[in-house]
Amino acid sequence: MTVSPSILPGSKRVPTLSIHADDHLRVTADVSAPISVSTTFDYAAADVRANNYGSSQSYQYSRINTPTAAKTEAVLSALMEGHAVVYGSGLTAAFAVLTEYRPKKIALGECYFGVRNVVEQYKKLMPDVQVIGADCSFDGVDLVWLESPINPTGEVKDIQSYALRAHAAGAVLVVDATLAPPPLSYPFRQGADIVVHSATKYLGGHADLLAGVVVTRSPKQADCLREARSVLGSGAGSLDAWLLLRSLRTLAVRVRQQSQTAARLVALIEGYRRSAMATPCHTPSALELSLGRRIAIVRHASLQQCAVGKTYIHAQHPEGLGAVFSVSFATGEQALFVARHLKLHHFATSLGGVESLVDWRHGWDAIADPALLRVSVGLEAFDDLAADWAQALQALDAHEGRGAAKL
Ligand SMILES: *Cc1c(COP(=O)(O)O)cnc(C)c1O
Repeated sequence: MTVSPSILPGSKRVPTLSIHADDHLRVTADVSAPISVSTTFDYAAADVRANNYGSSQSYQYSRINTPTAAKTEAVLSALMEGHAVVYGSGLTAAFAVLTEYRPKKIALGECYFGVRNVVEQYKKLMPDVQVIGADCSFDGVDLVWLESPINPTGEVKDIQSYALRAHAAGAVLVVDATLAPPPLSYPFRQGADIVVHSATKYLGGHADLLAGVVVTRSPKQADCLREARSVLGSGAGSLDAWLLLRSLRTLAVRVRQQSQTAARLVALIEGYRRSAMATPCHTPSALELSLGRRIAIVRHASLQQCAVGKTYIHAQHPEGLGAVFSVSFATGEQALFVARHLKLHHFATSLGGVESLVDWRHGWDAIADPALLRVSVGLEAFDDLAADWAQALQALDAHEGRGAAKL
């Protein structure tokens, strides 16, 4: 049974592609892909096992390619509508993009702190590189790095407008779409030239592997990246590549569900915040006050949508807005109190796994607001997560009330 990825386009086919896009690379009768751990391969076997990248790339040595990694890349390529190259981490993937383009002037949007660290590493090789913000003029810029949705708020950027501006300036647009994998977003459709993902997050989805992906539009560019990766050995290890392949099979059901639960939780928590505000027509009850009065700001793409001029959001996210959002309080102490009092959300870093997590980003990123908690919604039932938030918010209000009474 062989299904050609090219005849199954479109986000509706994501579940099928996730399961069958690597059928043509089967080398054994196993229904579930076996893990290949061999670092070396018989030369004789190389010819009969030639993969879809051509016989010149048959398996010889695992720094170059393995049957497992080839399958993982075949699935990712089909899902992402491009040519996927897998790395040992999301940040290794980011560094590979910078060394591929060797930009002299980078426009860097709001992004994950680790990507800023990667740019600092790159500066060691290219001390004259200039780095400006993504809302500055792109005059002289050769690479624009945009993250959408943004970690840690889950708010989205208008990729198409950045693509138009970047291309008008002769720059390439790189989009880090880690927070919205297929079927939630397809940045090539909005004009991105390169798409990057930390596969450690949703693509892996189980908080048990570290990997990254660069997706190119042209097969030639993917080959250049693979060549550099073969020289450096910066690809994913056997176990990680295999776990990633296993996880991709369920990508669509996981992220659709996580995204739906997140949108409901955001609406609930934002509703608590609003109901605690007194207006001429509404006097909050004691319950409404205890649930909502300590919440300062809730951020997520679903709340951006209410704003005028944000019509791009739906076009960019045909099937959901992502499962990361942020909740801010008045102080860092309040944020930490809530993080420690949530029972079903692990207080731990990372995102995208089946377990819900909250993280205090200020602990990692000095420029992150200390009063902000990042929430990554997992696959628990909505009602249980909602009850968890209600009890933690009420505990915070009771704690603050006691503190105030003492003063
Ligand atoms: C986690 C993350 C990365 C880095 O990925 P690693 O796999 O941890 O190296 C890059 N970008 C975003 C948006 C992330 O959330």
